[in-house]
Amino acid sequence: MTEDDALAAKGAPSEKGQARKPLIKLDKLSKHYGNHTVLDGIDLEVMPGEVLAIIGPSGSGKSTLLRCINYLEPPDGGHVTIGDISLNAAAAAGRSELSTLRRSVGMVFQSFNLFPHMTVLRNVSLAQERALGRSRKNADERSMQLLSRVGLADKAEQFPGRCSGGQQQRIAIARALALDPDVMLFDEPTSALDPELGLEVLAVMRELAETGMTMIVVTHEMSFAENVSDTVMIMADGKIIEKGPSQDVMRNPQQERTKRFLRAVH
Ligand code: ADP
Ligand code: MG
Repeated sequence: MTEDDALAAKGAPSEKGQARKPLIKLDKLSKHYGNHTVLDGIDLEVMPGEVLAIIGPSGSGKSTLLRCINYLEPPDGGHVTIGDISLNAAAAAGRSELSTLRRSVGMVFQSFNLFPHMTVLRNVSLAQERALGRSRKNADERSMQLLSRVGLADKAEQFPGRCSGGQQQRIAIARALALDPDVMLFDEPTSALDPELGLEVLAVMRELAETGMTMIVVTHEMSFAENVSDTVMIMADGKIIEKGPSQDVMRNPQQERTKRFLRAVH
């Protein structure tokens, strides 16, 4: 099955033959720390509505890749294109497109980083007021919609410390969605959670995928990679060693290195 077929099978709009344009395109993206090459010329395309899972051993560059996509960490070579914005790593600093690009990307980390002294509602509303200039009323309305969507409308007036880890991560997802991103990046969103609480976060992510959100998810959850994502990519030593339709890669990997990795984690 091609990646295009995989997307079509999932119900994503297929415009086969009509040159569909990727929403995210990385060209020869590279990053070094000292003389350590962490990203070694990554070429990658993600189509609108595609869910890409990234798996691979610790230290292979997965988190760095996500952080370079939105320039949270500046890459030191190559290009990042998201929608109509294209930035050359060498000339990105200070460009006005940089903040537009960052705003189009929502990010969810392993640690939820909610403000403990603010209510759940304020946690979700604040950035909308600061980054998008929404009025408090509009921001709160949008926040309540999103809190309902992640099943937490009844927690709006609580403080995050009263919420479970799974609830806090769902609040962090609502907070990222509140900025109306074109793309959501997740960096091991369930790794800090007990399995049971991880499941409720994965359920929210699955629903988000079903709405057509374009997502890149670094994960250790092999069943999410196989059953929710459209495409799976395996990284090792700053390179993509294998990528393809999720069920093909997970059930029938081609590279010896992928086979070893999957055997080790299953
Ligand atoms: P992964 O998420 O796949 O575990 P990372 O992207 O976190 O991998 O890290 C890839 C490599 O880059 C590791 O060897 C890590 O030690 C190194 N690294 C990551 N961030 C930094 C940093 N800020 N300074 C120096 N080395 C770093
Ligand atoms: Mg990581």
